[in-house]
Amino acid sequence: MKKILVTGGAGFIGSHLCTRLIEEGNEVICLDNLYTGSLSNIAHLSTSKHFSFMTHDVSNSFYYDHLDEIYNLACPASPIHYQLDPIQTTKTSVLGAMNVLGLAKRTGAKVLQASTSEVYGDPDQHPQSESYWGNVNTVGIRSCYDEGKRCAETLFMDYHRKHNVPIKIIRIFNTYGPRMMPHDGRVVSNFILQALRNRDITVYGDGSQTRSFQYVDDLINGMLLMMKTPNDFTGPVNLGNPNEFTIKELAERIIEMTGSKSKIVYKELPEDDPKQRKPDISYAKKMLNWEPKIDFKEGAARMIKYFDQL
Ligand code: NAD
Ligand code: UDP
Repeated sequence: MKKILVTGGAGFIGSHLCTRLIEEGNEVICLDNLYTGSLSNIAHLSTSKHFSFMTHDVSNSFYYDHLDEIYNLACPASPIHYQLDPIQTTKTSVLGAMNVLGLAKRTGAKVLQASTSEVYGDPDQHPQSESYWGNVNTVGIRSCYDEGKRCAETLFMDYHRKHNVPIKIIRIFNTYGPRMMPHDGRVVSNFILQALRNRDITVYGDGSQTRSFQYVDDLINGMLLMMKTPNDFTGPVNLGNPNEFTIKELAERIIEMTGSKSKIVYKELPEDDPKQRKPDISYAKKMLNWEPKIDFKEGAARMIKYFDQL
């Protein structure tokens, strides 16, 4: 039985990851400061004697005697949340990375970093492959998240090169699914909630910006495969679904799928909002034998059902 630490385990993705790790017979410690996560996300795990929860902020150090693996997910992911306390967001990514890497160095654990497509910024290469260095504003309102995650990647690579820590970096593209907070502020949860309540659908800008949406179960499969790769394989590897569409198309699809009476309204586009985003996943296919299996129609139907029952 492996002993696995999941930071940010009470959040949207983290709670799905903890669930899978427990189902696969591991001992799981979930460490989270509940900034955007909640105990209700992990309530179903509380009966397992192999699951434990610790309230803690990753920017302050923490100690365990023995660990086999660490998944570092702690960090708010929705722009409204990471911009609320931007200094803390940078601390969470950078000091959090240093703390998990120090822990991995001491315990010999493998450590996986949940990085992001935001390291590509507002990309001028399309689709984005891992070899692209990105186009990131260092002084904008998204920088606390983007630069924090970029610096975390640097720390992961340097701990690997200097101290031989077995590291894994995945770059996650927009992911959605049950347990996203209804008021999380991200686009899929916003639009589904608005559509189900027949409220205006808030498209920012003219809606011509694109994203590519991945269902959470596909991501979890990719994360587990990445952790199983040999110690000399670090990534970074993109994990996302390349089915790209515009935000306006997304609004139209959700209105159609929910049979909603909602109308689309246009709001101001936030500063530095990336104009396009689509993962090149050929590296993940080659190295992990992974590709997403759940298309948007199926994934959105599951999420609509979940939000409808809230
Ligand atoms: P989330 O906000 O639901 O989860 C983040 C979790 O981290 C929450 O439980 C939160 O309470 C916890 N957390 C935040 N700051 C912390 C701190 N200082 N100490 C301890 N815990 C802290 O977001 P999510 O969508 O589940 O994202 C999880 C990870 O995946 C994040 O690192 C995010 O950057 C990354 N990611 C997500 C997406 C996506 O589309 N969902 C895309 C790219 C990367
Ligand atoms: N967006 C939107 N309406 C909303 C929320 C988001 O039009 O109610 C847009 C946002 O401006 C961006 C895209 O949807 O262009 C994805 O936003 P999200 O916050 O989900 O993720 P990110 O920008 O980090 O990819």
